[in-house]
Amino acid sequence: MRITIFGTGYVGLVTGACFAEVGNDVVCVDVDGGKIDRLNRGDIPIYEPGLEGVVVRNREAGRLRFTTDTAAGVHHGQLQFIAVGTPPDEDGSADLRHVLTVAGSIAEHMTDYKVIVDKSTVPVGTADRVREAVDRGLAARGVTVDYAVVSNPEFLKEGAAVDDFMKPERVIIGSDDARARDLLHSLYSPFNRNHDRLISMDVRSAELTKYAANAMLATKISFMNELANIADRVGADIERVRIGIGSDPRIGYHFIYPGAGYGGSCFPKDVQALARTAHDVDYVPQLLQAVEEVNDRQKHYVFNRIREHFAGHLSGRCFAVWGLSFKPNTDDMREAPAGRLMESLWEAGASVRAFDPKAMAETRAIYGEREGLVLCDSPEAALEGADALVIMTEWNLFRSPDFEAMRERLAAPVIFDGRNLYDPDYLADLGYAYYAIGRPVQA
Ligand code: NAD
Repeated sequence: MRITIFGTGYVGLVTGACFAEVGNDVVCVDVDGGKIDRLNRGDIPIYEPGLEGVVVRNREAGRLRFTTDTAAGVHHGQLQFIAVGTPPDEDGSADLRHVLTVAGSIAEHMTDYKVIVDKSTVPVGTADRVREAVDRGLAARGVTVDYAVVSNPEFLKEGAAVDDFMKPERVIIGSDDARARDLLHSLYSPFNRNHDRLISMDVRSAELTKYAANAMLATKISFMNELANIADRVGADIERVRIGIGSDPRIGYHFIYPGAGYGGSCFPKDVQALARTAHDVDYVPQLLQAVEEVNDRQKHYVFNRIREHFAGHLSGRCFAVWGLSFKPNTDDMREAPAGRLMESLWEAGASVRAFDPKAMAETRAIYGEREGLVLCDSPEAALEGADALVIMTEWNLFRSPDFEAMRERLAAPVIFDGRNLYDPDYLADLGYAYYAIGRPVQA
């Protein structure tokens, strides 16, 4: 099938590459010329496991092309995917500017039947707004062209995006148009061979499903963080509690890890946008508000622990920070708890020696050569002379370090672990002061 994807970010690039991988003819359009130049050189602008191979292979086979030429993109695909960013607006609602710009561009250039597919995460009612934008564009040209708008929200996880796309848990297709729905079913059939994963529904339910999924996951995290804070105060160990409750299949072990708060480009903005939608229809979303508030508080947890340990004297101190991306296996730093922590440390007059396996370039792009930040080549180098180690992302590389050797490099054997990676008793035996989340302190 001939497919056009607008937006070559985490979602658009993975979507385009994976559709090409199963034999489709894909053109990806982005307004960022630098990104398109890099992609045309076979240089992948983001880190996503397995993505480079898929992009390079399909680009070389001529099934995957990259351009800034919107008109050419519109002419190419019968299926026009919108996978552009939907960042939060000032009031927390999703900013649909990019989505509606693409809708306008499609209307400006289309000459035959198109299925316009919203893959970006967009509030309920956006398909109607896309339709209005397209109708306006067609009316301005004085032409009538048949088209359909479909909601097909994306559920891939950064860090496992290619796998998730190739073997999706579900594909949601929200459409009121039988022809468009059939086209989408054909498109996804290669990803649907093992058992039926396609779930068809009306457009509004599809739009809400994406927010419901992310809000549920964010709720699980905030719930566990709330419990961790209670565990701290009553002298319980949240890790024992986690294992205890996860054993109930109604609760399950997935996604109930306490930590330094959720980040990333999706959970924070999607919880906010869903709350905004609720307010817009005169409903007070108490639970969603609490999920967000608990998360904001949690992002200060590690810093507060550090401040307490050093009795408020942080000025002039140096901290090794392991893990900068918002989660492992990605270079994405959007809303990363590590960013908030470093900013708090700098405000308090401390400096940071930072290491991340994949997010160093992104960290440099965000913070540049600022004073108080040393970007290190290895986890060991980050420790050199630091007053403590702070762990903010649970990369596998950090799970079983050489604690004896680390003690030699650190100025003092102190670890603040925002991801509960280690055994507190073991570290206490080695002479470390060890602070985790919701676990009795070993100091
Ligand atoms: P991103 O910021 O990585 O990429 C968006 C891309 O769109 C950028 O390259 C930008 O230059 C491009 N763009 C903006 N306006 C454009 C236009 N008019 N024409 C063509 N390209 C344009 O964003 P992302 O993380 O890929 O997210 C995209 C959407 O998918 C968002 O709505 C997001 O909520 C949703 N989503 C993201 C994830 C994720 O894990 N990142 C998962 C599921 C859904």
